[in-house]
Amino acid sequence: MITKKKKFVFGMKKDRQLDGDKMNLDFAKRVEAEGGKGSAIAACMQCGTCSGGCTNIDVMDMSPRTLILMIQRGEWEKVLQSNTLWMCSSCYICTSRCPRGVRPSDVIEAVKAIAIEEGIKNDSTKFNQIFVDLVQKRGILFEPELMQRFGGLQAMIDQAPLGIQLVLRGKMSPFPEKIKNPQQFSQALDKARKKHENND
Ligand code: SF4
Ligand code: SF4
Repeated sequence: MITKKKKFVFGMKKDRQLDGDKMNLDFAKRVEAEGGKGSAIAACMQCGTCSGGCTNIDVMDMSPRTLILMIQRGEWEKVLQSNTLWMCSSCYICTSRCPRGVRPSDVIEAVKAIAIEEGIKNDSTKFNQIFVDLVQKRGILFEPELMQRFGGLQAMIDQAPLGIQLVLRGKMSPFPEKIKNPQQFSQALDKARKKHENND
């Protein structure tokens, strides 16, 4: 008689769960050091509640649940290459609903920083870098400049109808704006940089 292997344990797929002693938590430690303190990666029981409530799961190639599992398994490359890092909108629904106190949103933020450090290049990292450069330059974003640097002239032309609508409705300025106290902003940036360097 052929006995079928049990695929589910307490309603969850057996192959999803990872025993603590089979986890490779090297990457998890790095995630925690990068700002994911208290992210409780090892506590994940793969229930999928985070994925069920995720607002952007339709455009992600890896659900938050799978991302946590890949980190537990030590599959760094898959995690660092996943578009989930860049599609996450930091809405924190996953974190607020997790029954085990895991913080997928903090994990994703930390892995994003690691991906940039590791030199991962894709459209999202390019967009992020331009965004950061421009905010550092002015203290406030000027969207047409972001569009031009990211997508060139063609992007400007493509987005022109939307841009005009935004300007007419007062949602976007047609000219770069200035912040009230640029010096205070630079000091805050320097402080944040130093704090980050000291944590390394
Ligand atoms: S809700 Fe929490 S425990 Fe459940 S899969 Fe997501 S991170 Fe893991
Ligand atoms: S924080 Fe990110 S991963 Fe979590 S529910 Fe929101 S979009 Fe999904």
